[in-house]
Amino acid sequence: MINFSVGPVHLTKEVMEAYGDIPYFRTNEFSDIMLENEKLVKELTNASGDDRVIFLTGSGTAGMESSVINTLTSEDKILIINGGSFGTRFAEICSLKKLNYEEVIIGFEEILTLEKLEKYSNRNFTVLVVNLDETSIGKLYDIELISKFCRENNLFLIVDAISAFLADEIDVIKHGIDVLIIGSQKALACPPGVAIIVLSKRAIDRIKNINHDILYFDFKKALKDGERGQTPFTPAVGILLQLNARLKQISSTGGVEAERKKIEKLANDFREKVKELPLTIPKYKLSNTVTPLLTNNCSAKDIFNILKDEYKIWVCPNGGELGEKLFRVGHIGNLSIEKNNELIRALYELKERNILK
Ligand SMILES: *Cc1c(COP(=O)(O)O)cnc(C)c1O
Repeated sequence: MINFSVGPVHLTKEVMEAYGDIPYFRTNEFSDIMLENEKLVKELTNASGDDRVIFLTGSGTAGMESSVINTLTSEDKILIINGGSFGTRFAEICSLKKLNYEEVIIGFEEILTLEKLEKYSNRNFTVLVVNLDETSIGKLYDIELISKFCRENNLFLIVDAISAFLADEIDVIKHGIDVLIIGSQKALACPPGVAIIVLSKRAIDRIKNINHDILYFDFKKALKDGERGQTPFTPAVGILLQLNARLKQISSTGGVEAERKKIEKLANDFREKVKELPLTIPKYKLSNTVTPLLTNNCSAKDIFNILKDEYKIWVCPNGGELGEKLFRVGHIGNLSIEKNNELIRALYELKERNILK
């Protein structure tokens, strides 16, 4: 099986070999590993000395929902960049929490421009929320543009970088990101189950001053226990050990930059090789994480199923409106040029069989 999905992805050898049995965790030894995890995540995101990192047991969406709950209140006026299903998820969260929000809807072929954002200047917004890579269609927003807009309007900036971390450029200080959300199963290439949240000083101050009726995902408690390398409740101990192995591996093999280049190289290689096939890559700026492919005269769902059942190759299907027209090929996890070649070979065969047309 070759897995070109956008998570869970192929694990690296370091991650697979990270532990045997699961150790008890209320120990100094486990605390040391957690403190090292925090230090490494801060280094890899270029966070500042005052910033903190918390590790939640849950998938990326747990990170999205708990970030909103712990840092925002009904006094905030929130601007959500919504260009697909992950943007819609933030809107759903804010709606459920009865928060005051507006959405900037970005259509499939549309680009987030300064003109689009400027309509929201001087209108008392206090927060901007964005999925840096809208993974459902592989669209990468311009973080420089967003960051500048937030600075000019003094907006608290929440960035879902669950699929963008390690694949695209992110710098917590440079981009003034207050809350950065990362997931364990995307480019971090660990099993699913841990959400990592990097918090700025400004975010920590908000958390300390907001009282919420939450227990499990209470950031105040997570921050306090995290000071001594612990979590309020039993964490996903095994994944945190794997994360430790993976973060050390990234750190010792050229850091974020080397990791990003590797993913970029795989993405560019695939995008070049797919060119002559009857598939269209949309024109907007793409994340390195994933390549969206529009079919011309065949069903994207059929291509997904045939690749899976007959070739043992997994790509990512799309849901909703785009389901029949779009599928995605991920470039994260333990992939290679050789694996790209196998997928390309399979796609050419589908073309010869008149299935891909
Ligand atoms: C994968 C992903 C998520 C989280 O999905 P989970 O299934 O909850 O892990 C959130 N946002 C983006 C942009 C993603 O790519």
